[in-house]
Amino acid sequence: MPIHRLPPSLINKIAAGEVIERPASVVKELMENAVDAGATRIDVRVEGGGAEMIRVVDNGGGIAADDLPLAVASHATSKLAEADDLFRVATLGFRGEALASIAEVSRLAIRSRTAESESGAEIEVVGGSASEVSPCGCPVGTTVEVRNLFFNTPVRRKFLRSKQTEMGHTSEAFTRIALARPHVHFTLGHNDRQALDLAAGQDGRERIASVAGRSLAEGLIWVESTHGDVQLSGYVAHPSHSRGNSRMQYLFLNGRYIRDRALQHALSEAYRGLLMTGRYPIAFLWLAMPPELVDVNVHPTKLEVRFQNADRLYSQLLSTLRAKFLSTDLTARVESLPDDDPTGAHDEGQTAQVRQQVVDWAKGEIASWGRQSAPGADDGGAASLGPRVSPPQTAPLELTRLDRAWAPAAEDEPDEEPPPGAHATSPAPGSFPDVPVKAMQVHNRYLVTETDEGVMVIDQHALHERILYEQLKGRVMSGAVESQSLLVPEPVDLSPAEAAAVLEHRELLAKLGMRIEPFGGDTILVAGYPAMLANMNPAEVLHGLVDRLVSGGKLPDQRDLLDELLHTIACKAAVKAGDRLAPEEIEALLKRRHLIDDAHHCPHGRPAAVVLSREELDRQFKRV
Ligand code: ADP
Ligand code: MG
Repeated sequence: MPIHRLPPSLINKIAAGEVIERPASVVKELMENAVDAGATRIDVRVEGGGAEMIRVVDNGGGIAADDLPLAVASHATSKLAEADDLFRVATLGFRGEALASIAEVSRLAIRSRTAESESGAEIEVVGGSASEVSPCGCPVGTTVEVRNLFFNTPVRRKFLRSKQTEMGHTSEAFTRIALARPHVHFTLGHNDRQALDLAAGQDGRERIASVAGRSLAEGLIWVESTHGDVQLSGYVAHPSHSRGNSRMQYLFLNGRYIRDRALQHALSEAYRGLLMTGRYPIAFLWLAMPPELVDVNVHPTKLEVRFQNADRLYSQLLSTLRAKFLSTDLTARVESLPDDDPTGAHDEGQTAQVRQQVVDWAKGEIASWGRQSAPGADDGGAASLGPRVSPPQTAPLELTRLDRAWAPAAEDEPDEEPPPGAHATSPAPGSFPDVPVKAMQVHNRYLVTETDEGVMVIDQHALHERILYEQLKGRVMSGAVESQSLLVPEPVDLSPAEAAAVLEHRELLAKLGMRIEPFGGDTILVAGYPAMLANMNPAEVLHGLVDRLVSGGKLPDQRDLLDELLHTIACKAAVKAGDRLAPEEIEALLKRRHLIDDAHHCPHGRPAAVVLSREELDRQFKRV
């Protein structure tokens, strides 16, 4: 085929493909234009997650009537005059292709008026073909309305996800710009609902509180430093707050939200030893430097930039945070927080107490196996699942009795009666009901037991996790996960993307016993949660699940997701290395050890059991 120049409309479609990925990209570009126009108030309204309609109204400088056709033409901008300007960009936009790209793949209308002009003017562009400019009445500033995004690019349209998910992305785009410019008044409305109203002149912390929740904002630590021309200021979260991914790391460079791997790494380094592996710090950091020290023209949506002196910036961030952490008595703060780990180590502290409760629950759970004689015919051991406030049904005693029923060789406390029906219980296939289990716990983490072949050393956590996983899965499959209703539904603050993900996966979560209601904004209500996690804080359970839902670029398939969630719950609920187990508990666990016989590995890939064969032992002791 001969080489030929592409027609402008095709060029624009190609550009649109890079820049306009989904409604959120449109919101970003339009808001950036409004900010560049010097607006002090920007109102964003979307319908149908943004796919149906996006309107951005600003009170900025406006566009002169004569300039309107140029505004929607490609490679037309008022922000660069000469080549050198590209190396000192002080505006958010500069390529002059956003409006043209959007106009190519939607129905776009602009109404605008400058302060000098008596009246306004408007232009409409449908799928790239522009109308004449006509006069209209409007206040000073600009209104851009985008309807039917991707109406003429069906492939793109097909890739749009549910309205809720798109709205999640849209509010994340909104949030990034709103955080980057705390002094500007922003509002966000979705359909008929006012989602956010962020007053002008908020300081950073207030703005963070408005978009990310008050509880998070209150615990933030202020950091600042100036090295030469580079100023750094903002907030980082106390180590007791962290996330399972890096989404809550907001970095702003000269008022622009950016992602930067090196700086994210510096953050992680600063928190080294303060967070568990796999946890990410939360940060809101504003960087200011002369524009010539950074190249913003390296990424289609300008999400990434190139710093002239990346190394120096890295050390500035790291040293600022380290110095702050050294001078802040993190330990003291941790102790004053109710649930925390006195070592101040990390958010594992919060789980210390929970863990104990979970262990208690787990004991009850083990005990309840005995009662599950006829599948579906019992209450799933509900009595032992609730919070441990009703002593008559609590776990350990039950456990002792039930296990004696299973394992008659246990000889202490002979006066206890097995509960009615327990003897009739037929054991699960593959368990070892009649053989007394000879076993001991060592270092509060391994169970050592005799097998036909030799000696087996079992990781107690891995085994219990496996047992709970199988059990949970059975219940999920039979639709029998009990959900404990909360008398007063508990509100949980999430980021917009998290809230959207949670709402989108409501049904799936409901299968797991987690009942979710929308509340408004990015707050959601937990109305019920898995009874088996009754001793854990609903917010914490939800946060754990949310991290799974939003991590990873592409959405996992339902089955995988369910499976992962089951693993997460099982892992949280299982006894941990370091938990001392009662002999009955050891026995109860070992009765199900066939579960790790099938799969010798815990879901993290570590071996769950190690077998020393008799021959091996004989060899070691020089008996052969
Ligand atoms: P860029 O922002 O890269 O210049 P755009 O296609 O986004 O390119 O916008 C083209 C031009 O239209 C801008 O340079 C600006 O002059 C004008 N413009 C767009 N939106 C607005 C607005 N909200 N207020 C004032 N001028 C605007
Ligand atoms: Mg622009």
